Amino acid sequence: MIPTTKDDTTFDNNNKEMPFTSDQIFDAIRNAQGDTPFHLYNGDMIAENARHMIKSFRNHFTHYTNYFAVKATPNPHLLDLLKQQGMGVDCSSFAELILSQKVGFKGDEIMFTSNNTPDKEYQLAYELGAVINLDDITQIDAMKQALGGEKMPRMVSLRYNPGPLKQGNAIIGEPQEAKFGLTAAQLPEAYAKLKALGVDRFGLHCMVASNELQLDYFEETAKLLFNTVAELSRSPMSLTFEMINLGGGIGIPYRPGQKPVDFVQLAQRIANQYNNIILPLLSDQQQYVNANIKEIKIVTECGRVVTGPYGCLITKAIHHKSTYKQYVGVDACMVNLMRPGMYGAYHHITVLKQNNQNNQNNQNNQNNNNLYDIVGSLCENNDKFAVNRSLPNIEKGDILVIHDSGAHGHSMGFNYNGKTRSAEYLFTTTNNNNNETKTFTCIRRGETLDDLFTTLDFSKWDNKDL
Ligand SMILES: *Cc1c(COP(=O)(O)O)cnc(C)c1O
Repeated sequence: MIPTTKDDTTFDNNNKEMPFTSDQIFDAIRNAQGDTPFHLYNGDMIAENARHMIKSFRNHFTHYTNYFAVKATPNPHLLDLLKQQGMGVDCSSFAELILSQKVGFKGDEIMFTSNNTPDKEYQLAYELGAVINLDDITQIDAMKQALGGEKMPRMVSLRYNPGPLKQGNAIIGEPQEAKFGLTAAQLPEAYAKLKALGVDRFGLHCMVASNELQLDYFEETAKLLFNTVAELSRSPMSLTFEMINLGGGIGIPYRPGQKPVDFVQLAQRIANQYNNIILPLLSDQQQYVNANIKEIKIVTECGRVVTGPYGCLITKAIHHKSTYKQYVGVDACMVNLMRPGMYGAYHHITVLKQNNQNNQNNQNNQNNNNLYDIVGSLCENNDKFAVNRSLPNIEKGDILVIHDSGAHGHSMGFNYNGKTRSAEYLFTTTNNNNNETKTFTCIRRGETLDDLFTTLDFSKWDNKDL
């Protein structure tokens, strides 16, 4: 994808709330001994949002859960927090499985949705009892062989790519162009093959959207999946489905003025489709009646909408440069948050005057705004957090809060130019006898030069004087 440089001037910069007060941000900076940049997550808000999401869906689907996509924010402390609210995990790599195992997820609390999968990942997923979601018809034999040729999991899910039957969304592109999933034509053959190998519990999965805010889009996907399940259940194979995974991809309002997805409405819309298409199946198909299956488990595997809005990247302005444009250099760069540089994605920025002076007044005063490019220090011209952004006057030492870094933020980090990845902090409130304690916990320290150099062999130069 070619990075685009978006003109950001059309957006009103003063009407998007931070997940923290400015006082809390300065407390967090003091707590970090001034060592910016870092990502800061609001654990209270993440927990509340997770509970609300689960409750909205469980009103219709008793067994609903969201498998949190670990790649969004792979930190054990956040996974643990989500586990406490009743979420599972969606893993797609060896490391993500290990991380989930360490936090205590097991069995069907883990969904393993991988592609181009190495043998050892199937072995680990099987050992953990994860629900394995295969990406291709060839992966049936590949998994069987990886597991030694004798064993198969009792339950297997398949990832469906509807191709031309479903329009792609702007971010993820057209399904036909996606490397993921099986075609509609391959599904019956793949399920028949699994059945012949002794699998008797089935799942169907589809993920065709990313950062999508339209309810219609998800309702349509649900309808498509429910119809596919109905067709396969009524086919002569009489397949029994136990789980339908609607995937992730629920978007968040990155831009001011965008509306978040309403979970209550979304769940209601999906339930309407379920009641029309799935409910009749459960009473008229013998395999469901015999197995006494009253509900097919409906699940999602969202990452972004769970943590995204409740994290931000805290960075400090360190330089000002005026050439053909006005630049503000900050101490964070693209290795801390690559979405703007990689996708041309918009991340809102709130400027806080240093020492927290007049921040209340300043945020409402648009009169002394400037057009800035906010840049990092990589030798890459797309290392920009914002292009032509109208922001209040920024001086050296001011704090820039880059919003919505709570998912696909720190986790996409890298080490180009020898840059080290930052720390992550979790803000939580605990209530003891009406005594509120607010804590900032370091849940990942920043990388050091030793971390960066640990894979290099310097022994040849060890005894030389520097
Ligand atoms: C990335 C991914 C997700 C999570 O996507 P979000 O946009 O964070 O909700 C879920 N499922 C699969 C298979 C993915 O690759």
